[in-house]
Amino acid sequence: MAGPLKTVALLGATGSIGRSTLDVVARHPDRFRIGALSAHGRVDALLALCERFRPDAAVVSDPAAYPALRDGLAARGLPTRALAGPAALDEVAADPGNDTVVAAIVGAAGMASTLAAARSGKRLLLANKESVVLAGELLMRAAREGGASILPVDSEHNAIYQCLPADDGRQGVRRLLLTASGGPFRGRDRAALAKVTPEQACAHPNWDMGPKISVDSATLMNKGLEVIEARHLFGLPPERIEVVVHPQSVIHSLVDYVDGSVLAQLGNPDMRTALAYGLAWPERIDSGVAPLDLASLARFDFEAPDLETFPCLALAYRALEAGGSAPAVLSAANEVAVSAFLQGQLGFLGIPDLVQACLDATPAGPADSLDDLLETDAAARRLAGELITRMRLQ
Ligand code: NAD
Ligand code: MG
Repeated sequence: MAGPLKTVALLGATGSIGRSTLDVVARHPDRFRIGALSAHGRVDALLALCERFRPDAAVVSDPAAYPALRDGLAARGLPTRALAGPAALDEVAADPGNDTVVAAIVGAAGMASTLAAARSGKRLLLANKESVVLAGELLMRAAREGGASILPVDSEHNAIYQCLPADDGRQGVRRLLLTASGGPFRGRDRAALAKVTPEQACAHPNWDMGPKISVDSATLMNKGLEVIEARHLFGLPPERIEVVVHPQSVIHSLVDYVDGSVLAQLGNPDMRTALAYGLAWPERIDSGVAPLDLASLARFDFEAPDLETFPCLALAYRALEAGGSAPAVLSAANEVAVSAFLQGQLGFLGIPDLVQACLDATPAGPADSLDDLLETDAAARRLAGELITRMRLQ
């Protein structure tokens, strides 16, 4: 028996994680219903999802898209409430009618609603890693105080969550080993990276993901953000969180124990496994992911990350060691750099250069309140924007 129906608010419904979540939800109508869906501005895509999943509320975070959403819902005869603007995301994240919140917005834009879900004691399926990097301490505190359960759905953190002891999360743990695919440019040298295009950077060998995280995977910043995410979620110091490159992306991460045991979670590279785990925990449900065929995989490879060619991973460790607002600077500068790269305004190697320049120019400040963090985020974005203009003028 599945128990009472759970109501899910899916923030970032039109993205890659959003799609995978809805695929799992649709397989289990006896367990889950959709309470709210959000998109930034893609009203047509959101309306199509509303027709199919009939949520109580639909949110467009871009207020300019509100009339199209309202009229589209009315034209389809749907009773779904139309909401708009960033505050509406916080509202549905905190709504007592929703017991589960899937945080699948990309970037710092997801921070406030992720915090709202934590404060309101939800089951929080956390994909939006940038909010953990920006506001890790605040988020963990909000979850403790609000009584929220954070279920990591980033595949590495989901793997670690599954491999940690259930009682005291860290007893006997020596190290966390995060696996990295190495991205589409693994094995290349710096010179070969100077001219790579956004299309090449977004063509990930194993995962089908949104553009920002695809570029982050190509620079290894994704793994850097994940190291910071792991530090907050699992409470281990940076020197006990290591990264190993595993190009097949089948071992999603590992936990090394003091007795020499190393536990790993394996599976085909498909986010529906982690999402099904988070949705149904502590039960297990079908996710639609094919069973792993080890004989046809034949082998697993491992290598150390190349920090000289991909300096973003080292920059993330540096920001984590510096503490305070440094991770927020790293993440904000990276968001600006990735967006400039995707728009053809910055070369691929300009991404780590820009992040480093922003870290160099910004002394680590406090990160004790949301206001501090929003200020840091805005200042780092301004600085990054100015530096890009200067780099283009050179
Ligand atoms: P995506 O680009 O495919 O989708 C992003 C979603 O966020 C869309 O629904 C979009 O409408 C919404 N959005 C964009 N800008 C917004 C804004 N300013 N305000 C509100 N909403 C906005 O991204 P994705 O690949 O699904 O990734 C989402 C998050 O999950 C990211 O933080 C990413 O790092 C994380 N994640 C993704 C994967 C994956 O396989 N895609 C794996 C692990 C973690
Ligand atoms: Mg990941």
